[in-house]
Amino acid sequence: MITKKTVELKEFTTIKVGGVGSYMIFPENEEEFLNVYKKHKDDNLYILGKGSNVIFGDFDGVLINTKHFNDVKISETKEGILVKASAGVPLKDLIKLSVEQNVDEFYKLIGFPASVGGAIAMNAGAYGVEIFDFIKGVWFVEEDEIVYKPKEEIFYTYRKTEFENKPILYGEFLFKKTQKDVKALAQAINQKRMETQPLNMPTSGSTFKNPKNNFAGKLLEAVGLKGYKLKDIGFSQKHANFLINYKNASFQDVLALINIAKEQVYKAFNIKLEEEIKLVCT
Ligand SMILES: Cc1cc2nc3c(=O)[nH]c(=O)nc-3n(C[C@H](O)[C@H](O)[C@H](O)COP(=O)(O)OP(=O)(O)OC[C@H]3O[C@@H](n4cnc5c(N)ncnc54)[C@H](O)[C@@H]3O)c2cc1C
Repeated sequence: MITKKTVELKEFTTIKVGGVGSYMIFPENEEEFLNVYKKHKDDNLYILGKGSNVIFGDFDGVLINTKHFNDVKISETKEGILVKASAGVPLKDLIKLSVEQNVDEFYKLIGFPASVGGAIAMNAGAYGVEIFDFIKGVWFVEEDEIVYKPKEEIFYTYRKTEFENKPILYGEFLFKKTQKDVKALAQAINQKRMETQPLNMPTSGSTFKNPKNNFAGKLLEAVGLKGYKLKDIGFSQKHANFLINYKNASFQDVLALINIAKEQVYKAFNIKLEEEIKLVCT
């Protein structure tokens, strides 16, 4: 198992912003994951997937990076295709599998750099589906034990689940086949993403959650923040709700711009924007 001291956290996030992390551990299997968790659970512990939704300042604590814990098991059942994927499996691997197997709807989650654990923890979603539409159950750590919870007993809602401080080990997915041309449908979604989102820039996706019956991007655009830059951080010209790191943005710059956005939207529309991204600093 690899452990690293004094890590540059920007290397572990897609937006490439971040200070120094004191300690990062990369468990490679269930046993290592559980042991690392038990040992460090009281040491300011944070679990990191692909870092596509996290923006770090400095972090004095222990980061468990799930990257090397990635195993997929597949079985055919009467209900459909059952997939057990560990936390560090890239979501794109499951998308690929679902396209190969001509599975309905899962392809809509194509195009963002999540891990299975991160996508479940966030209840990631796009184009009218969310990951919990495909979840049958989740294995996670509770009171030092690995427990399984079926979906019906799990709390999840829009971009939020009960797993905020509970380490997810595996997701169990149920995939149902379809007669549709899934490959073509997946390509179309991918194309749409490329046209509407700055995928070739350092970003962490949507900065704010969409308020009820509204769109954060629309509100940000309405207050003139689409394309607005503060030092090296700015809201994308292509998608107003995506922050872009234009070069060497700092955590403080990110916080400053987020505050400006919240203030302006509140002043103009009396709406309190809530971050979808996780701002992590100690
Ligand atoms: C270009 C781009 C486009 C995006 N588009 C979308 C989109 O369409 N829809 C969408 O929902 N999101 C989108 N995102 C955001 C992001 O990709 C998702 O939230 C994703 O699910 C985060 O996964 P991750 O592995 O990167 O998690 P991380 O960013 O590493 O972590 C996110 C949160 O999950 C927790 N976490 C991670 N792994 C575990 C685990 N094993 N157990 C418990 N908690 C864990 C972390 O502690 C953190 O709180 C986009 C991001 C980018 C960069």
